[in-house]
Amino acid sequence: MSEKIKTVRGFRDLIGEEARKYRFVVEKIRNILEKNNFEEIILPTVEYTKLFTRSIGDATDIVEKEMFTFQDKGGRDIALRPEGTAGVVRAYIENKLYADGTYKKLYYEGSMFRHERPQKGRYREFHQVGAEVLGTINPLADAEIIKIADDILKTLQIEATIEINSLGCKKCRPKYREALINYLRQHREELCEDCQRRLEKNPLRILDCKVETCKVIAQKAPKITDYLCDECKTHYRQVKEYLKALNVEFVENPYLVRGLDYYSKTVFECVSKELGKTVIAGGRYDYLVEELGGPPTPALGFAAGVERLMLLVKELPPKKPLVFIIPFGGEKEKIEALKIAEKLRQEGIRTELSYREGKLKKQFEYAAKIGADFAVVVGENELQSGKFPLKNLHTREQKILTLEEIIQTLKNLS
Ligand SMILES: [Zn+2]
Ligand SMILES: [Zn+2]
Repeated sequence: MSEKIKTVRGFRDLIGEEARKYRFVVEKIRNILEKNNFEEIILPTVEYTKLFTRSIGDATDIVEKEMFTFQDKGGRDIALRPEGTAGVVRAYIENKLYADGTYKKLYYEGSMFRHERPQKGRYREFHQVGAEVLGTINPLADAEIIKIADDILKTLQIEATIEINSLGCKKCRPKYREALINYLRQHREELCEDCQRRLEKNPLRILDCKVETCKVIAQKAPKITDYLCDECKTHYRQVKEYLKALNVEFVENPYLVRGLDYYSKTVFECVSKELGKTVIAGGRYDYLVEELGGPPTPALGFAAGVERLMLLVKELPPKKPLVFIIPFGGEKEKIEALKIAEKLRQEGIRTELSYREGKLKKQFEYAAKIGADFAVVVGENELQSGKFPLKNLHTREQKILTLEEIIQTLKNLS
């Protein structure tokens, strides 16, 4: 026997119910986004590495440790995308989507890649559905984006806490950063190694550190909300008012910073009560378009982690009933069965035609094994009389019906 080839470490297959759950989650999110008039954008999976170092920030874990990067045959530095926003912004600029003066509401879906240590529920290829609004500073957009996240959670029946914060702007954040660095310097020795390094480069990230000693220090750090300028304060207040008007429950977390560098003003995270982990997160990134070479364009968005949402979806909607068509006899019966199966499918009935040969008993056993709900035998007698036995494989009850009656019965169940 030849050597068996396995999936690459950290990667996996989605099979059967897992694949259905994936589709279920993605379709629910897409429906909500389409209802909000977001348009899909389908982006490449690879980008130049510098797109991510310039947008996500080179002092972040993603860029420092987790990106899948390589050189293509032309010696160009390429990365498998670790997130979706940078690609959307690149596409927005490259295709001059700003040119007509309207703001753009775009969503994407697909694989993201991060070279993390594999653990339960975490893979190196994972999936996100994300949405971005480009070209507006209006806090109505912030509230609607968070409302969409809330809708996604409610639709999937997932209990989560929505945490929000404001990270300020270019005017007010430097003052906060200074106050934070001053505070953290007093505790430098107690910080973990990563955070000691972050202290000068990226002090806000220390508020996000999962190491216990760092958490304790972070809890007493100055709060950004005490440093917001009037514009940021007003913006944040309006977002909260609009959320209340929409009956979206939220809690304010003045230490919420998000892992990426590009955020400004509103940030939010939806933390699953069951997992204690973030399942949807996002915020504003008012400078990113400009930093990547586009015109000044305030923008915001979110990304939903499909794998984590899948862990929280307990029940999938039942599949349509399945009917198993069994040809019984010779070539003529096979051809009639083939046509009957096709007719049922045209009526929207989930139908499988038996490819097996042999005794009826074995055929019924096979039907049960593949989870069929009904079986119909197509034999010589049935074809002559124009009536077929429709057998319910759960109750063992059997009805003799015309094809039209079978179609009506099955359609009523679908
Ligand atoms: Zn500000
Ligand atoms: Zn730390």
